[in-house]
Amino acid sequence: MNSASFSPSAPASAPVPVYLAQCSSYENPELVSAIESVLLPQIQSVGGVSGKSILLKPNMLSWRKKDDPACVHPRMIVETARFFLKSGASRVAVMENPAVLPAPAILKMMGIADELKSMGVETANFSRYRQLENLPETVIYRNLEIASEFCDFDYTVDLAKAKTHAMMTLTLCVKNLFGFVNGNDRIAWHLAVGRNYDQFADMLLDLYQIIHPQFNLLDGIVCMEGNGPGNGTPTERHFIAGAVSSLALDRAISPLLGCASLPILERAEKRNLLPEAILCGDTPDIAPLTLPDEPSMELSKLHLGVGIPSFAQKLMHEHLLARPVVEVNQCVGCGVCVKMCPPKTLKLKDGKPCFDLPGCIRCFCCQEYCPQGAIYPRKTLLMKFFRSMESIFRG
Ligand code: SF4
Ligand code: SF4
Repeated sequence: MNSASFSPSAPASAPVPVYLAQCSSYENPELVSAIESVLLPQIQSVGGVSGKSILLKPNMLSWRKKDDPACVHPRMIVETARFFLKSGASRVAVMENPAVLPAPAILKMMGIADELKSMGVETANFSRYRQLENLPETVIYRNLEIASEFCDFDYTVDLAKAKTHAMMTLTLCVKNLFGFVNGNDRIAWHLAVGRNYDQFADMLLDLYQIIHPQFNLLDGIVCMEGNGPGNGTPTERHFIAGAVSSLALDRAISPLLGCASLPILERAEKRNLLPEAILCGDTPDIAPLTLPDEPSMELSKLHLGVGIPSFAQKLMHEHLLARPVVEVNQCVGCGVCVKMCPPKTLKLKDGKPCFDLPGCIRCFCCQEYCPQGAIYPRKTLLMKFFRSMESIFRG
């Protein structure tokens, strides 16, 4: 039983070390050495993993092309599993519930299913969803149905990819935990929270508190920038990060990747969940990622020289959310975006998606799953206007 998953979630008073290692490729021995330098201190902090069972949850969105940057690289998955076995773990499993294909199918497409099997590593799709009991008091959404397989293991490993995300700006370790929610429930969550990104961030923070992965690794050797999380551009940043807290890791790494405010971290701070983090080890010079258009704008945070009354802010709210747009030349009319739209407001017209903006909840599922990367988040005219005003006032 993963008893540590229900440990108190209040931030520790001492800063959490976030280990960084430079790594220029997914080739051995460099990769193995980098994994060891960020994972070993985490393993030592729990007194070792000898005889323990380990669940590895990699981010595996899909596998559309060789070295697809939407996923944790296959060599990271294999070498992380191997490192736990070498450290004495008695059982290692790789599990995930990707939206498009089952996890074993994606591992096979990655070309590592047989290798994992020969190492004695189990692979499976999450399938046992249920509401858990004895949750920390700080959990808001207490009826979350979560893949309960992690309760059968001593330790859970959050193995995430550093990439951009239209709705949450970046996918790092906390966002990777959304994969513990059933596919149908993920759609229901999008529908339930609608355009309220704070509520979505709160739900992710609840997953973090409930699952509480004891080990966290972030694949930043090749990141994804631009139109993430499914269709961005691969970009090399040559690092791996690790920490015993997913939140501390996200806190330490997001500014390095050029993200000044991450919705998950803002909500964690408001809820008094955010731990201090301190960078340790081999800190590489990491250039910022090209981020997607900001998903929403809060007028209260702008520097306009004048305040805008809250009633006016409410009126303008609709126009302060980025909206999906299609690049028609890239669209092949496959209809995947229509199928993935939670409120079913998206239709095809003359073979191209036609957005019903009043009914669109700005979840960007269409953008995430479009196999051609033809849908993008775009700032509204009002957002552009306020950003220009802000730069004038700041200037
Ligand atoms: S999923 Fe992409 S390619 Fe397919 S219809 Fe929608 S926009 Fe076009
Ligand atoms: S059109 Fe796209 S962004 Fe809008 S609700 Fe549908 S899937 Fe979400």
